[in-house]
Amino acid sequence: MNFQKIRLGPGLYFVATPIGAARDITLRALDVLASADVIAAEDTRSLRRLMEIHGIPLDGRRILAYHDHSGAGARGKILDALHGGKSVAYASEAGMPLIADPGYDLGKDAAEAGHQVTCAPGPSAALMALTLAGLPTDAFFFAGFLPNAKGARRARIEALRDIPGTLVFYESPKRVAACLSDLADVLGDTRQAAMCRELTKKFEEVRRGSLADLAVALNDKPVKGEIVLLVDRAHSETVNESDIEEALKQALRTHSVRDAADLVSEMFKLPRRPIYQRALKMGKE
Ligand code: SAM
Repeated sequence: MNFQKIRLGPGLYFVATPIGAARDITLRALDVLASADVIAAEDTRSLRRLMEIHGIPLDGRRILAYHDHSGAGARGKILDALHGGKSVAYASEAGMPLIADPGYDLGKDAAEAGHQVTCAPGPSAALMALTLAGLPTDAFFFAGFLPNAKGARRARIEALRDIPGTLVFYESPKRVAACLSDLADVLGDTRQAAMCRELTKKFEEVRRGSLADLAVALNDKPVKGEIVLLVDRAHSETVNESDIEEALKQALRTHSVRDAADLVSEMFKLPRRPIYQRALKMGKE
């Protein structure tokens, strides 16, 4: 038996569920599901199935259906349970609740009413994709699903153009080729990207390449399954000399020559050596 019944204090417990492989659930998540007074889920059938796989009995508990769009009625039932001092476990269909999934309104209302809100964390497709994509992870921006309509989609991509981090999108296999082609048109053919598909499942696949290459490949040969798209940040090709000078001047006020050079070469994605020599010269002046 992989779980144990524990004494849970009153409060809302978000529970992460697997994004593919059923065993990708933490022991603590199983304990919470086994022990909560009340269980609620975005998809009651898939949670019941997951609990069956792991041998967790319902013990007379009914799984309440809850989605943020179910409205104040369904949320009211859960909040009533919390007011009554119960522990409530809530799971979305897959991965972390709230990450392109319901739970935001529930968590917000519960916290505002003064209840304890916590989480048994676990897998999320966005984080796994970042781990595999081969793109920088020092900063990233989760942009969820792009709009369906082409005009709105392009406008959204335009708004994300200069974000200084890796962009992360969730996408459906039906739209992925059209999205990649819009991404290439708006952000430029050569931006590096990755398509991560069916993560943790049998046909897991990671394809890396330029936006244009990926768009052509997926248009020629469509794929199936669940997809995360990642896009590298813009790298300015023509760095303004005076911008470098100014950044070094600023950095040298509070950093050693070595650290200032590290900071500025990273900032402009430029080789460190010439920046260091320049910083050295400026430091002496
Ligand atoms: N809450 C989930 C999470 O934490 O990742 C995301 C739920 S969202 C409704 C579903 C989308 O997540 C899918 O359409 C796909 O874009 C992405 N996704 C979920 N599981 C995936 C997987 N195994 N491989 C690739 N993408 C996945």
